[in-house]
Amino acid sequence: MIHQWIPKPLLLLLIIAILSDLQESKAASFCSKEDQCAVDEEVKQIALPAPIQARYDYTRIYQVELASDEHVRIFQALELASDSCSFMGHARVVGQKLTIMVTAAKVADFDDLVHSYNVTHRVLNHNFQSLIDANYREVAPPGTTPDQFDWKRYYPLENIYAWLESLAKKRSDVVSLVDLGASTQGLPIKGVRIAFGKENLTSVFVESGIHAREWIAPATATYFIDQLLNSEDPAIQELARSQNWLIFPTVNPDGYRYTFEGDRMWRKNRALFGICRGVDLNRNFPFHWNVTGASGDPCRYDYSGPSAGSELETQRIVQFLEQHIQSDRIRTFIALHSYSQMIMFPYGHSAKRVDNYQDLTEIGQLAAQRIKDLSGRIYKSGSIYETIYPSAGGSKDWAHGHLKIPITFSYELRGPADSEDLFILSAKEIEPTAGEAFASLQTIVQEAGKRGYYQ
Ligand SMILES: [Zn+2]
Repeated sequence: MIHQWIPKPLLLLLIIAILSDLQESKAASFCSKEDQCAVDEEVKQIALPAPIQARYDYTRIYQVELASDEHVRIFQALELASDSCSFMGHARVVGQKLTIMVTAAKVADFDDLVHSYNVTHRVLNHNFQSLIDANYREVAPPGTTPDQFDWKRYYPLENIYAWLESLAKKRSDVVSLVDLGASTQGLPIKGVRIAFGKENLTSVFVESGIHAREWIAPATATYFIDQLLNSEDPAIQELARSQNWLIFPTVNPDGYRYTFEGDRMWRKNRALFGICRGVDLNRNFPFHWNVTGASGDPCRYDYSGPSAGSELETQRIVQFLEQHIQSDRIRTFIALHSYSQMIMFPYGHSAKRVDNYQDLTEIGQLAAQRIKDLSGRIYKSGSIYETIYPSAGGSKDWAHGHLKIPITFSYELRGPADSEDLFILSAKEIEPTAGEAFASLQTIVQEAGKRGYYQ
């Protein structure tokens, strides 16, 4: 107790001093002088609660090799038991390599576990936060204008939308803005329609950013838009005019915004379910919904939602495609994701082969070859089920299986499957990644055209 060692008269003075101080600061908020008001504004800004950001200091990335059935069972149990370990995919088969992010508080336990069961492993990263810090430094500063938009930095949602709007204004003969409608948290889902005016063309639909943390996907989608509008390469100009283009860089705007403000590693939308948020929108589409490779638990990263097509973002995409598949003659559906360097086609929900399996296999291989020729990067191609892992409720399964869009591919962009950076791709990689993806898209459209899909 302070007053026990302060003489009473002094204590009284102290109280008066504190009270008059309070009085003064209260008076200051009714400021009349410009400079005093300015200071007050500053104070108010500092006093606002700072957004809480997730931290990944000394979080480690491990890669483990599952050499036995016992290993598979151990890691399946670990994923269910611990939310300190984030799995990139699930433990499924012997021989599989699995990437796991382990929080700092659990690295000793995890290290003990892999040694106790003789699991071959390596540490891909010892302090994930340092990668995230570097990545946030590559974000364009506030106030960046649409004419400064480029592919050397990453952009928040507002900048991407401002750029799309400026294109629709500047190039109104070719570009129109399309808003699919509001997201769960009321943000618009904006994209563009690019049409050079030829009659009766078929259309390519590009969906990007359904998984919020995969920042390279929206950056690649905007690169596509820029190339289609501004390339001086005659082959690209011909490609641009051979189709109409419907391109949506960020179909999960709430999640994307949250990766800037809250958690760089957020994947799902931001719908609230009890104590956890978010549906994995790419598990929510109404086609063989929830049969495999998805979770019924809202706290998991691959939660499929309370019912098929339950989410607003899913419904916006479904409604738009159903309304426009005939009028826009949509024959090609492309979804952009990262990472793993893959070009995949349906199905994901089962090993059942699509009707045009042979064509999609050949086109996928040619697209991957195009990338290898251009940059030397190796992209695997094949069906989702056979190439990455079984998963149901994905947009491309629905687009192909339900809507019957024949040419349907989904990309896992850079880095490689054993990437040390996971989704945190350096901005230096935007141009080469987007460039090789665009070249391979050109191959897909040309090859599909040769096979008669656009007649
Ligand atoms: Zn993804």
